Amino acid sequence: MLSIKNLGVYHGYVQAINNLSLEAKEGELLVILGANGAGKSTLLGTIAGLYRPSAGEIIFRNNSIAGQKPDQVVKQGISLVPEKREIFSSLSVLDNLMLGAFHRYRKDKSELMNDVKEIMELFPALKGRERDQAGSLSGGLQQMLAIGRGLMSRPTLLMLDEPSIGLAPLVVREIMSILVQLKKKGVTIILVEQNTKSALKVADSVLVMERGGITHSGSSSDVIADSLIQEAYLGKA
Ligand code: ATP
Repeated sequence: MLSIKNLGVYHGYVQAINNLSLEAKEGELLVILGANGAGKSTLLGTIAGLYRPSAGEIIFRNNSIAGQKPDQVVKQGISLVPEKREIFSSLSVLDNLMLGAFHRYRKDKSELMNDVKEIMELFPALKGRERDQAGSLSGGLQQMLAIGRGLMSRPTLLMLDEPSIGLAPLVVREIMSILVQLKKKGVTIILVEQNTKSALKVADSVLVMERGGITHSGSSSDVIADSLIQEAYLGKA
């Protein structure tokens, strides 16, 4: 469904992505691991249209999307839940969700409210909090809201940048199980994580990034069995 070939991305003079190629298959949960500064956020941001590549191709469902603007990318079915969540804390939970539907052409309010209802079923902890200020929610609920907002554009590809950052293990588990539920509903997921153990439990495929490129790729069990990756990312003695 997503095919990236020989991608290059610069931030000023810094080359953040260098000759990177990857494939994400329809319906899979692809986890991307890598140390700080490896280029993971830049990769997601480039797919989402936030950064313009200097080289390479990004093909999504047979369309070339490299260099398209973020709103065009969203309309094609790609949604990014950013690392900093970017929740509007003074707005209500419901208004934050609605912002995720901003790019949709659909003007039918009842259809939007139906989508909100579905999202509340996925995140029961948000139920009854629709009118609350988003800033009053706990970190875990804010992360669920950020994912919910990402779903309001009805993506076929949902990308998440370190959703577990700063959250308690129980909440991380809840979020991972929600990602599995979404995958079962047919959403393809790309998950960037530093919380390697939790991510590998739900991954179908895994990529490891270093210095702007992919250094390892394989199924979750291949990666778990790889002693070098164990040492680097799983804290094996
Ligand atoms: P982290 O886990 O810390 O977010 P990452 O793997 O997501 O790391 P990126 O944030 O994509 O990595 O950064 C890749 C490289 O690009 C790093 O060297 C970083 O310093 C640099 N970089 C990222 N954003 C910018 C920017 N806006 N301006 C200049 N350099 C940047």
